[in-house]
Amino acid sequence: MADDDTLEFQLPDVEFDDDSDVCPKCFGAGVIVVEEGGVRYAKPCDCLRDRRTQRFAALRVPSRYQHCTLDNFTVAEGQSDPSLLAAHGLARRFVDQYPAVEAGLLFMGPFGVGKTHLAFGILQELVLTKNVRCRWCDFSELLAEIKQGYAGNAFDEHALLHPLVEAEILMIDDLGSMKIRDWTLDLLSYVINQRYINKRLVIATTNFLDEPSSAYEVLGEFARRDETLADRIGPRLRSRLLEMCKTVLMQGGDWRRERTQPNLLRHI
Ligand SMILES: [Zn+2]
Repeated sequence: MADDDTLEFQLPDVEFDDDSDVCPKCFGAGVIVVEEGGVRYAKPCDCLRDRRTQRFAALRVPSRYQHCTLDNFTVAEGQSDPSLLAAHGLARRFVDQYPAVEAGLLFMGPFGVGKTHLAFGILQELVLTKNVRCRWCDFSELLAEIKQGYAGNAFDEHALLHPLVEAEILMIDDLGSMKIRDWTLDLLSYVINQRYINKRLVIATTNFLDEPSSAYEVLGEFARRDETLADRIGPRLRSRLLEMCKTVLMQGGDWRRERTQPNLLRHI
């Protein structure tokens, strides 16, 4: 390695995980100095990759979505809609520019266009390439968990909600899949408002549109739904989320069905 190259070497972010054993090679610095051909230079320690892999495993991504990356997001030949290309581009830009991004992303569109694929693809890249502390939750599972917890005697509200507030990035999948009201809405609003106050980003997916009447012509069948996102999660939470996230409309045929015919696929 030439001296000039050595000078241009970028040190990775130093990472300290309180709960991990200190690496005997780099003592937690994440970088080691090696000598090659008489030239000493710094390089990332192997433990960096291991720590990121562990962090990704801790995300507990469902097996159905574990393969989802931004690179393998595909749409069927002839079926591709410009909105899918645009959504993929926005997801890619979000990851590339992170943490220098101001707003999260709210992927809106019908079942099967790949909203969840893109959302998990973003999480995977952020964890593996930038070591971002991400968390995700399925909207209806979260509500069920809250309700179940309250039905029991020893519900630890803090233990359930605190991680959702504290995560650097929170992804909420299938927002509005259940109608939310009363105290469950209060709890979720608390999580989102705390994140808003602390400028922590949210990524979400939803099958519900914001304004079905005006979007009807654009989205066809999808907009025949009578209910809007506000009907499902309440107007206040909806406007807070829209304030925090860039809306990304996605439309097209059933992406999941098309994916089962690989000869029709092309990478975008
Ligand atoms: Zn190390």
